[in-house]
Amino acid sequence: MGIDRRKFIKYAGLTTVAGILGKNPIDALADDEIAVSSEPLKPIVGKRWAMVVDLKKCRQKEGCHDCIDACHHIHNVPDFDNPKDEVKWIWKDHFKHAFVEQEHEYISDEVKHTEILLLCNHCDDAPCVRVCPTQATWKRDDGIVMMDMHRCIGCRYCLVACPYGSRSFNWRDPRPFIKETDPDFPTRMRGVVEKCNFCAERLAKGQMPACVEVCSEGCLVFGDLEDPESEVRELLRSNFTIRRKPGLGTKPEVYYIV
Ligand code: SF4
Repeated sequence: MGIDRRKFIKYAGLTTVAGILGKNPIDALADDEIAVSSEPLKPIVGKRWAMVVDLKKCRQKEGCHDCIDACHHIHNVPDFDNPKDEVKWIWKDHFKHAFVEQEHEYISDEVKHTEILLLCNHCDDAPCVRVCPTQATWKRDDGIVMMDMHRCIGCRYCLVACPYGSRSFNWRDPRPFIKETDPDFPTRMRGVVEKCNFCAERLAKGQMPACVEVCSEGCLVFGDLEDPESEVRELLRSNFTIRRKPGLGTKPEVYYIV
């Protein structure tokens, strides 16, 4: 027999799921076998991670995309070069789109024209987590909202629930569109959702998120909210900061100095 019992059961399950998603189950099986280590990354005990984006510093280096390039390279994010299929973990957008509630007609041109760096906010009360029917996305004790592509059935409820546009769906096989595959991070398959993971795989090795490490201007600061002596706590104490869509009560853990 060309297919063992375990694979048969898996295939039968995939047939059902693939039918829902309009996928060929053989493709789904093949993709799954190529794919990814499902070894869960453990939360870092006693920490609560947050990021501060200093837009004053960011403005000094207009047009810089070093953080985006670094993130997308190490996470094998495909570049489809068209907005319809776009997959993004970290990106830039105008102030009026990023901070809908804070925008008004008298805001300074400088602020109005600043490109705002955006990513998953790792919300404290994350609506994406609440709606996922398979627990493919969940919140760790250290605050990171994780994503397990193996459990994702592509229902896209999380995409609808996220009020920040922080999640992307792989409408097409992303692998041919990865510029240079990094073997240290799993690639994904068509039909799954992905997003920023605060570089959980790097934190587990004691490294900073790639975007933070690569930023030569120090625009991005990452650290532990539980530690009163941390740099993020000091920045939050000494600066006025805003968060995206505070009225929704999601409590984002990404703060902006404007
Ligand atoms: Fe979820 Fe969106 Fe909040 Fe990220 S920003 S935790 S994807 S709701």
